[in-house]
Amino acid sequence: MRIFNTMGRKLQEFIPVHKGEVRIYSCGPTVYAMPHIGNFRTFFLTDIIHRYFEYKGYKVTLVMNITDIDDKTIRGSEAAGMTLKEFTDKYTKVFFDGLDALNILRADHYPRATETVPEMLDIIQHLLENGVAYIANGSVYFSIHKFPAYGKLSGMDLDALDHGHRVDSDEYEKDAPGDFALWKAATPDELRRGIFFEAPWGKGRPGWHIECSAMGPKYLGSPLDIHIGGVDLIFPHHENEIAQFEAAYGKKFVNYWVHGEHLVVNGRKMSKSKGNYFTLNDLLKKYTYNEIRYLFLSTHYRDKLNYTEKAMQNAAKGAAKLELALQNLDFFIANAKEGESDSGFLATAKQRRREFEEAMDGDFNTPKALRVIHELVSDIYKYAGKEKGTLETARSTLLLMLHTFGLFEKEGESSQLPAELIKEIHEREAARAAKDWAKADAIRSKLKEKGILLDDFPEGTRWRRA
Ligand code: AMP
Ligand code: ZN
Repeated sequence: MRIFNTMGRKLQEFIPVHKGEVRIYSCGPTVYAMPHIGNFRTFFLTDIIHRYFEYKGYKVTLVMNITDIDDKTIRGSEAAGMTLKEFTDKYTKVFFDGLDALNILRADHYPRATETVPEMLDIIQHLLENGVAYIANGSVYFSIHKFPAYGKLSGMDLDALDHGHRVDSDEYEKDAPGDFALWKAATPDELRRGIFFEAPWGKGRPGWHIECSAMGPKYLGSPLDIHIGGVDLIFPHHENEIAQFEAAYGKKFVNYWVHGEHLVVNGRKMSKSKGNYFTLNDLLKKYTYNEIRYLFLSTHYRDKLNYTEKAMQNAAKGAAKLELALQNLDFFIANAKEGESDSGFLATAKQRRREFEEAMDGDFNTPKALRVIHELVSDIYKYAGKEKGTLETARSTLLLMLHTFGLFEKEGESSQLPAELIKEIHEREAARAAKDWAKADAIRSKLKEKGILLDDFPEGTRWRRA
C-alpha cells in the first residue's frame, strides 16, 4: 500500500510499526457548534482509511479526540448560559449522531481534553525540564527556536521569525509562527466559572495543540502509524503536536501524516466563521447517507471537493445506479436456475477485486475504485441470465466493495429513503389496504414529483428512483 505522506510530500510504501496492526489517530471535533459537512468530509476520510485497513485484514485501533475546552467552547458556553460540560456534552452528542447518520464506524477511543490533563501536564513538565518551554505570567509557552526541527512538516520558513513573539489564541493566524501556549493561566472569568485545572505553575487550562500530543501516544504508543486531519491543521496544529511530543520525549511522534483537502463552496473553504456552510442535518433532509457518502467518494481526498447542488444530484444518480443493481441482482438470483458456475464471470469478478484493491492501495483512490464498482455492475448485467451460483458470487463481490465504502449496509432498501418519504409510502399502503384509491394515487403522484416511482406487487410496494 502506498500513502502520500505530508511529511516529505511523497508517496510511501506503508510499513506498520507492529506487523498486522495499524494505529491511527485522527483530530476530532471541537464541540462548540453544529459540525458542517466539510468537517464530515474529513471524518469520512478517517472512516474510509479505517474500513480499508480492516478489509486488508489489519487490526485497526483508532483514536479521535474531542476538544471540549478551548477558546471557542469557553466563549460559546458562556454565551449560551450553560456550564462548559453541559455545552460540550450537547455538541458531543450532535457529533456522534452525525457519525451514525453517515454510517461512520466508531473509533476505539474518544478521549476528551478535560479528561487527559495529567498526560498533558507530563509533557509540559518535560518541556520545562528540557529548557524548551518557559513560564510567563502563569502561562507556559513553547519556545520554537529551541526546537531546530520546527517547521519540518509544514515547511514553514522561520527565518522571518520574530524571536520571542508569543501567540495566546487557540485560533491563531496561519503564516505567523510564534511561541505558542502549552498552558494558559486562568482568566478572572474562568476562575469565576470554575474552568481551570491545578498545575505546579498555577491554575489554568491546556492550550489546544497539546491534547493530541498527549492522547495519541497514551492510547497508541509511539510512533503512531497514521495521523489524519484536514489540511488546515498542518500548520500550526500538527507542527505544534510534533514539536511538543518530540521535544519532550526525544522520540518520533508519527510515521505517516495524511491530510484531507477541504470541501469548498465557490472555491472558498466551507467554514463556520465564513457562514458559507451546511450542516449534515440540512443535507439529510434531502439526501440519504449513501448519496452523501457517494459524493465524498467521488473526489480523491487530496483534491478539493466543490460542493454544489449539481454535484450532490450527480452523486444521488450514481448511488441510485448501484442501488438498482443490487435490487436487480436479487431479482436475477430469485429467478435463476441451478447449474455449472460460469468460469468466465468468476475470473472477471476476481479481476475487478484486484482493480479495486489496486485503486485503494494507491493512496486511497476512491473515485477510481468507484469506477471499478460500476464496471462490475456492467459485467453483472451481461450475466443476468446465468445460473444461481455465479450470480451469488457476483452479489458477494459487489457487496464486499460497497460495504468497504460503507454503502448499502443498513438493512432494508426503504431505509435508504429519507424518513418522511418512507412515511408517505406507508400511508399509501394503508390507503390501498382500505381501498382508498384516490388517496393512494395522490400520494403516488406526489412522490413522482420527488423522483420516486412506485411499483405495486402482490407482496407489497417497491420504490425506485426515476
Ligand atoms: P474542528 O471541529 O473545527 O476542529 O474541525 C474538525 C475537522 O474538520 C478537522 O480535521 C478540520 O481540518 C476539518 N475541516 C474543517 N473545515 C473543513 C472543510 N471545509 N473541509 C474539510 N475538512 C474540514
Ligand atoms: Zn489534533
